Amino acid sequence: MDTEQVRERYRIEREKRLRGDGLAQFKELKGDYAAFDIDPYVEPGFEREPVIEETDAVIVGAGFGGMLTAVNLQRKGIENFRIVEKGGDFGGTWYWNRYPGCMCDVESYTYMPLLEETGYMPTEKYASAPEIFAHCQRIGRHFDLYPHALFQTEIADATWDDDTDRWTVTTSRGDQLRTRFFITAGGILHKAKLPGIPGIEDFAGTAFHTSRWDYGFTGGSPTEPMDQLKGKRVGIIGTGATAIQAVPQLARAGAEVFVFQRTPSAVGVRNNGPTDEDWYATLEPGWQDERMRNFTQAVTGEQPDIDLVGDGWTDVLWVNTQMGETDEERAELEQVDFEVMERLRQRVSATVKDPATAEQLKPWYGKHCKRVCFHDDYLPSFNEPNVHLVDTDGRGVQQITEHAVVVDGDEYPVDLLIFASGFEVTTSLIQRLGFDPVGRDGLALSERWADGAHTLHGILTAEFPNLMVISTVQAGFGTNFVHFLSESSSHVARLVATCMEQGVASIEATAEAEDEWLMTLFGVAMAMAPYSASCTPGYYNGEGQVTDAGARNVTYPGSLLHYVEFLHEWMDAGDFPGAHVVYRE
Ligand code: NDP
Repeated sequence: MDTEQVRERYRIEREKRLRGDGLAQFKELKGDYAAFDIDPYVEPGFEREPVIEETDAVIVGAGFGGMLTAVNLQRKGIENFRIVEKGGDFGGTWYWNRYPGCMCDVESYTYMPLLEETGYMPTEKYASAPEIFAHCQRIGRHFDLYPHALFQTEIADATWDDDTDRWTVTTSRGDQLRTRFFITAGGILHKAKLPGIPGIEDFAGTAFHTSRWDYGFTGGSPTEPMDQLKGKRVGIIGTGATAIQAVPQLARAGAEVFVFQRTPSAVGVRNNGPTDEDWYATLEPGWQDERMRNFTQAVTGEQPDIDLVGDGWTDVLWVNTQMGETDEERAELEQVDFEVMERLRQRVSATVKDPATAEQLKPWYGKHCKRVCFHDDYLPSFNEPNVHLVDTDGRGVQQITEHAVVVDGDEYPVDLLIFASGFEVTTSLIQRLGFDPVGRDGLALSERWADGAHTLHGILTAEFPNLMVISTVQAGFGTNFVHFLSESSSHVARLVATCMEQGVASIEATAEAEDEWLMTLFGVAMAMAPYSASCTPGYYNGEGQVTDAGARNVTYPGSLLHYVEFLHEWMDAGDFPGAHVVYRE
């Protein structure tokens, strides 16, 4: 195909997938769908006495973001902090996601934090979810974080008091925590979503979201085969990074598997293998920070001297397509983009035996439009007689009835319906936090941010003193998300420690600095905009709908390392430029 033909094919596929309701097409796991949100990993009936106390910091979230913030506070000598977490243990996304086959497709040596400190060697280049969850618990034990944690607890309210320079944080378990600093580390994948398919509430069989896997129904466990699925008819809606990993396991369990596809994923080579212990023993202190940095350089096109990780990510994402400065450069980059995606399409043809199924599994969009996946068993699953691809040609599942999934008028009866329908990644921060902080003079964050986010570096916000946000909204991002979390949690801890040392009573962004930061973000984002607009809808581009508020929720689209430079420069300036600071009398 020539360039024009590929562009045209991308345009046609995108148009099929466009719909008027954008992000509103999804349902939250509450209200009518609250049953989907029940935590299957804890014993029901947990109760405890409310905690009433005064602390230096409250951290929301016990995933890697919250844990790294806690560890970084400890490194600064701050021990008086609380961690509040909805789940029943440390882990965040690795607590919730226990679906069969779950693993991390980012290399374990760069992704699993604090390996040097905990003395742990991952068993494989790409670690399984149980191993990562166990590492989260190891971090909890190693750094003695468990006594700080309030699990199975959600924030009810958080209110700033100007007279005492404290936040009062209340929780679903009646806790009252008064704190100097309030740090939210809510993650990007903690709010699961369901597709708003007509009739979804009519389904009478067993149904759950992949992040609430019911092994009681399927049998097995994250490490054992699902022995109760043989002969059962299982439908799975979605073909993103989660489904890619779960489908081969469902196939192995002997179920009749119906994979309902709206947009195919691009699936590259995984090539996992055991860790070479001899090599691991040669790693010098400081190796993990260096490896994280090197990986981020490689995937953002900075071309380090040696590509230490050298896997599919660095191959696929080596070139940042939209960053070409001249027409010629941009044309060249577009060609590279086409070639990478064509290689991935060819991989489908070479793997999937039935030509019609192979055609349906081919991704027709640019390589930065959706998250690329890596797996060696997903595509071969479609050669198994018990695995059936039901392609919806970009339109999605038409309807769900009491016992079946309907596509194009055809009914597919199923006993089990699995929603691999993802998470809210680009909805508003307040919606994802699940509470609405109240800042100075009773101002709610939802009011202040009525037109979208206002922040300095995504961390500080005016009228909300001592609130520090760790999220991707107006902040950085990385293919290795833990690299971003490591950097931003270390920055926040340094900021808290500096404020405490210098007798700062309150710190917040000025509105002017927020505007300036937004202009910096937009300056970089503009280069990306035409590419993003040409993409098939997905969470990367707000489901194809650009709203003013959505635009303000932008993530720093350049390299994570550039974002980190902003943070370092700001801290190193020594006088908190762009912040309004009140010192204690
Ligand atoms: P995604 O949002 O990536 O995928 C959701 C899937 O549901 C898509 O295929 C989507 O189709 C489909 N879908 C939604 N609505 C409908 C509908 N009405 N009819 C049919 N299909 C529908 O969620 P995932 O859980 O797969 O992944 C979320 C993120 O989690 C990933 O992007 C990644 O960041 C992370 N992750 C990381 C892993 C790792 O190895 N590091 C592993 C797993 C997840 P469409 O594409 O058309 O919207």
